[in-house]
Amino acid sequence: MIKSKAYATHSASSPLTAYEIQRRDPGSEDVQIEILYCGVCHSDLHTARNEWKNTLYPAVPGHEIVGRVVAVGNKVQGYKVGDLAGVGCMVDSCGHCHSCREGEEQYCENGFTGTYNGPLFGGENTYGGYSQTIVVKQSFVLRIHHDEKDLASVAPLLCAGITTYSPLRHWGAGPGKKVGIVGLGGLGHMGVKIAHAMGAYVVLFTTSSGKVADGKRLGADEVCISTDLKQMAAHANTFDFILNTVAAPHNLDAYLQLLKRDGTMTLVGAPAEPHPSPGVFNLIMKRRQLAGSLIGGVRETQEMLDFCAQHKIVSDIELIPMDYINTAYERMLKSDVKYRFVINMADFK
Ligand code: NAP
Ligand code: ZN
Repeated sequence: MIKSKAYATHSASSPLTAYEIQRRDPGSEDVQIEILYCGVCHSDLHTARNEWKNTLYPAVPGHEIVGRVVAVGNKVQGYKVGDLAGVGCMVDSCGHCHSCREGEEQYCENGFTGTYNGPLFGGENTYGGYSQTIVVKQSFVLRIHHDEKDLASVAPLLCAGITTYSPLRHWGAGPGKKVGIVGLGGLGHMGVKIAHAMGAYVVLFTTSSGKVADGKRLGADEVCISTDLKQMAAHANTFDFILNTVAAPHNLDAYLQLLKRDGTMTLVGAPAEPHPSPGVFNLIMKRRQLAGSLIGGVRETQEMLDFCAQHKIVSDIELIPMDYINTAYERMLKSDVKYRFVINMADFK
């Protein structure tokens, strides 16, 4: 077994503190990665505080992992010691169900194994990226083609990047399409960059008037303050697709009525409490659709990383030391981060 320093929480109400975990010795198909940077996703906070009522303690969050390969098993062909590599939200799945066979492991019918918090349908806990090293089977390891100097800013692509890329691709964001992104946080700012790079006309919806200039800098063609009813009404019936990344319950009707006939709004934000139920007439009168989407499969995550490397897309980050994490969570709750915290593991001695 390999000992690794980590940061864990032991209950919904306690802060994260230093904790030692053990990783398995790399098996023949495994890659061991020294973690250099790990992004901080709002899902880490939901999990640490048991907001989804499924947390296994001790909980070591972190699923936006980048680092350097330090050991490989004897059947590993795609990675060698010294390579840069990434790990996202999953470390395993059944491999044989309908979804896994189609490369959509995140919808594994037998439940994928999360990078942290264990298998979806119960089983042994897993520990995430708030740690010095991780051992992952090679089929769940991602290749990084970005410049090494951008590595810290690449980490958030492993969750925030794929969670926005996958639905934007699935619902056809591209030239001639009007796409809305709701919420300018970690996911939202990646959504704006990626939708813009795909060639869509991008409108950012934000509750924060202070984010208008940033929204445009990041690639939005327009920024709409979602609390301003007049600004919202000007977009009625015009969107092909809206990607909603908001981490808190809110009025979905305000956005559904902005969709064209046959338009779709997809929820990726996963608040602990339900949204107020949307009015049915907003859906049936224009055959609109309300949908959801979960991260993306391994193959699509690699496709997203390659797309982002090609388009020079990285995350806007604030680099923090490991022991800043509890403060970072409080700031994330106040939307006080531009636009993703990333933990620098070099500061974690
Ligand atoms: P984040 O950085 O905290 O961003 C969330 C944004 O939502 C905020 O920046 C804010 O944007 C907006 N917001 C927050 N509270 C709001 C409120 N009360 N009313 C309206 N808007 C509000 O979070 P994140 O890391 O991007 O994650 C967002 C959500 O996606 C979380 O629930 C997370 O668990 C979930 N998630 C889902 C998946 C998936 O696979 N589906 C993957 C990763 C994360 P403005 O200031 O611009 O309004
Ligand atoms: Zn995440």
